[in-house]
Amino acid sequence: MINLTKTQKLAQALIQRASVTPDDKGCQDIIEDLLKKASFNTVRLNSNGVTNLLALHGAASPFLLFLGHTDVVPAGNTEEWTYDPFDGFLEDLGDDVILHGRGTQDMKGSDAAMCMALCQFVVQNPNHKGTVGLLLTSNEEGDAVGGTPFVVEYLKEHNLIPDYCIVGEPSCSKEFGDTIKNGRRGSITAHITVKGVQGHVAYPDRCDNAAHHAGALIKALSETQWDEGSQFFPKSSFQVTNISCGTGAENVVPGSCYIMCNWRYSDLLNKELIERKVTSIVKDLKLDCDIRYVVNGLPFVTKGGELLDVLKEAISLHTKVNPSLSTAGGTSDGRFIAPLGTKVVEFGPLSTHIHKVNEAVSLNSLEKLKDIFVTTLEKLF
Ligand SMILES: [Zn+2]
Repeated sequence: MINLTKTQKLAQALIQRASVTPDDKGCQDIIEDLLKKASFNTVRLNSNGVTNLLALHGAASPFLLFLGHTDVVPAGNTEEWTYDPFDGFLEDLGDDVILHGRGTQDMKGSDAAMCMALCQFVVQNPNHKGTVGLLLTSNEEGDAVGGTPFVVEYLKEHNLIPDYCIVGEPSCSKEFGDTIKNGRRGSITAHITVKGVQGHVAYPDRCDNAAHHAGALIKALSETQWDEGSQFFPKSSFQVTNISCGTGAENVVPGSCYIMCNWRYSDLLNKELIERKVTSIVKDLKLDCDIRYVVNGLPFVTKGGELLDVLKEAISLHTKVNPSLSTAGGTSDGRFIAPLGTKVVEFGPLSTHIHKVNEAVSLNSLEKLKDIFVTTLEKLF
């Protein structure tokens, strides 16, 4: 018989709901119940099949918002998993217990820690200053439509702008406590159609091969140094993600070639700078292109301040590890909160198994994560 804490039990219960994005499968109901019992005011903000829960306690500022998601990516081929991904299997190691399943690291373990930290803090400090709260969405792993950006509009309308936001996404790389994400790179996708003239492969003088032009363009873009990186960001990177071209016939020169590409960029770049550089490359190569840019997320960084100091202190206290700061990795829903002027940081469990087969998390680390969040709340409020 394995004895679990409230946080660990909650994490297991959430794993046992197969909430593949954007279907919440009742995860937020369980969390809402717990927060209501701890006298939080809750509101459900649902849109287009996406479930969102906003729970608040207190009034006025400062306002600290925890941010998470209850959706998970699909398990993939479940036969490759050692344990059923939605069973919540517990592996007893003696001095620790491993919780197996999809979403254990990303990020139901953290959802449980954030929820129980808030409950514990509010029960022990019913008259705390300011406002504390939790926002959960069921569309973080999808396209975010109807998810966090939808709730951000509600926050703006109700003048509920957080001063601080802690995103519980898995942030640690080798050992629990080693990394705080204090920002994220921006992400821009470009859809490029390189134009040429279609024709018979045997008469190249009568056509203009769009694939050859696309090749030259990709070479130039991939060899461009976009920036040197900055104090808080690694160098910006460019990657081609898709190419399609040709009619399928072996004797037709393609008249157009479609390229999809993506930049993960630092605070030194922006859409205008990227666009200007691409335009000049296209001009130098004398190409005819249609280009459409989509900004998926702006870069953000929290360079310092009380939230970061207090969180670092709480991590060292509970883990004996001094966390380093990083802005590496993909984007998170923190990108929707940062433009409100909120100081956003991300801290959660190890990210070693996110989106992989046999995702699992240490239950000791989840209990410590809850303690870190409680200490952070106590020091800030
Ligand atoms: Zn996540």
